[in-house]
Amino acid sequence: MDYDALFRTQLDALKTEGNYRVFAELERFRGAFPRAKNHGAGAEEVTVWCGNDYLGMGQHPDVLEAMHDALDKCGAGAGGTRNISGTNHSHVLLENELADLHGKDAALLFTSGYVSNWAALSTLGARLPGCTILSDSYNHASMIEGIRHARCEKRIWAHNDPEDLARKLADLDPDAPKVVAFESVYSMDGDIAPIAEILDVCEQYGAMSYLDEVHAVGLYGPRGGGIAEREGLMDRVTLIEGTLGKAFGVVGGYITGSTELVDFIRSFASGFIFTTALPPAVAAGAVASIQTLKGAEGTGLRARQQRQVARLRAKLDQAGIPHLDNPSHIVPVMVKDPVKCKMLADFLMERHGIYVQPINYPTVPKGTERLRFTPSPLHDDGDIDALVGALHSLWSQCALARAVA
Ligand SMILES: *Cc1c(COP(=O)(O)O)cnc(C)c1O
Repeated sequence: MDYDALFRTQLDALKTEGNYRVFAELERFRGAFPRAKNHGAGAEEVTVWCGNDYLGMGQHPDVLEAMHDALDKCGAGAGGTRNISGTNHSHVLLENELADLHGKDAALLFTSGYVSNWAALSTLGARLPGCTILSDSYNHASMIEGIRHARCEKRIWAHNDPEDLARKLADLDPDAPKVVAFESVYSMDGDIAPIAEILDVCEQYGAMSYLDEVHAVGLYGPRGGGIAEREGLMDRVTLIEGTLGKAFGVVGGYITGSTELVDFIRSFASGFIFTTALPPAVAAGAVASIQTLKGAEGTGLRARQQRQVARLRAKLDQAGIPHLDNPSHIVPVMVKDPVKCKMLADFLMERHGIYVQPINYPTVPKGTERLRFTPSPLHDDGDIDALVGALHSLWSQCALARAVA
């Protein structure tokens, strides 16, 4: 059996479809965010325009100091799973910090946001007798995989559509457990769920709500608790899930909720139990990041980010570059052609030192290919002008349609 030939056949199919992923090899510079060294083809130094370290917290001095201190004090790894010697004091402090951030009784850490969604949803679906999970049609792969692994009943409801959710809930046994899973900020279109309306429907039908705030934590709300905090809805959401790897700039995932809910996941989720705990230095860095973003400095960073987002949108409008209008910090510039999308990204990297990853099918539907820009407080006005100037000239060269003002 030639296994490599089997692998190659499927890889070749990906390449033919234009879906083969090529990574940009970068070396981030501390103190020069959003600049990075590019180890691949193109400019040697690039401005990163598609990062998820939304506020530059991955290089914040307080975060780095906390990590250095913990590394010196505790060493490299946690030394075990949470159950068998791996629970470090800093993990407990971090869980307390997260529970406080979302106004919940308790929180539970995972090695990533992906694992937290996968483990929590699969445990809920598998362990709650007769459970149905109702999933927004745009939900992230980590939720989809968790629901699949639960092997329970599932229903997919139309994206951000509380009425469709209500219809689907009305069909179900009123006495059986139901979990409604959705996100606040959707990362590809940058649209935001009507959380209050969805919660109304959940409460009407006795469903528990499961909200992924991965693209909102640190960024929205007076203390960075996310969209549910901004809208005063945190206490109505049964489970809030988030990541430490995006706006908090470190790595890891978590859930928050009632004491019983968190104890249930802690006690039954294989993806929590049977894996080594996060390094203590990571937990200490995350605590520092969350604390910073809860305070006045966080408020300043969030305001500055919103300013830069608004500025990029205004400049794109002036240049007639079409972008999705949405209420978040995510600015998708619509190219609507997979080949041109990749070509634009290559030109930006090679000629302008601008790095943005092209987003093509299957991440987004065919015909909606895009470049997804995420301005941070550390992208200055000059960076924005350089980006829009480059897009302006490439737009003509690639014969792309302008937006009609
Ligand atoms: C990135 C992402 C995750 C996974 O978080 P990680 O910490 O990166 O594993 C979960 N949900 C959504 C919506 C995401 O975009």
